[in-house]
Amino acid sequence: EERPTELPPPTGEGRGGGAPRLPLLQVKNLSKSFRGLKALSGVSLDVRRGEILGLLGPNGSGKSTFINVVSGHYLPDGGEVWLGGCNIAGQPAHRIARAGIARTYQIPRPFTQMSVLDNVAIAAMYAGQGLRTMEEGRREAMQWLEFTQLAGKAQVLPAGLNLHQRKFLELARALAARPQLVLLDEVLCGLTPTEIQSAVALIRRIRDQGTTIVFVEHVMDAVMALTDRIVVFDQGAMLAEGAPREVMQSPAVMSAYLGVSHA
Ligand code: ADP
Ligand code: MG
Repeated sequence: EERPTELPPPTGEGRGGGAPRLPLLQVKNLSKSFRGLKALSGVSLDVRRGEILGLLGPNGSGKSTFINVVSGHYLPDGGEVWLGGCNIAGQPAHRIARAGIARTYQIPRPFTQMSVLDNVAIAAMYAGQGLRTMEEGRREAMQWLEFTQLAGKAQVLPAGLNLHQRKFLELARALAARPQLVLLDEVLCGLTPTEIQSAVALIRRIRDQGTTIVFVEHVMDAVMALTDRIVVFDQGAMLAEGAPREVMQSPAVMSAYLGVSHA
């Protein structure tokens, strides 16, 4: 199916192309500590172009730190993050966003004084290299609101959205940046079973329109339904990697999960 002998695709708006066979993202020996606490220690993993990679692990195992470091919100202590021929580790978040990585937050962070539409329009304005006008941004934003089924809420403030809609707004903002890769941090957390179903369908559509996804999630049914591959973290290190079902049945992963006490 792949076309191995072709030249790499043009890098498009500087968003780091690369040969189809290379992983989209290569993380090498990534580390991050907070005052001596090793939140990430020597994590090495690849994200393949077009996949949905599940990132799992008990609370505090370093999943959000991984997203924060890869997206440039935290400086790594060491290691490399290769995106299409550039080591982006340690680059500022806005550069990494322009290089093609978008993320959502575990707790949605919209601009509270701006309409839903304008929240997305701002992201669209800054997407790619040239700055778009707010009008152009709004036009594009409307398409992303339709994609995320929020078009009817375009003019309200984020405070007028329920949790499900706020999570979808996060997705719309991330998509408006036209990323090659989105890092989703627990987008299903707190949703009802019906809302989870619609979010799962939306995540599939995000992948189908060509965006690679790293999906941090605790909702196991959704992980099993959506992911091509999973990686399990424990105490900042990678415990296992592979096909979802096999990894979840491995003794190391079972004991990491069963060792967690539930308050
Ligand atoms: P997860 O997302 O897997 O639940 P996190 O990456 O949020 O885990 O946290 C990993 C560890 O790093 C935890 O012990 C957490 O308390 C710590 N940590 C994360 N972010 C910070 C921060 N900004 N300051 C201090 N400690 C942090
Ligand atoms: Mg987290």
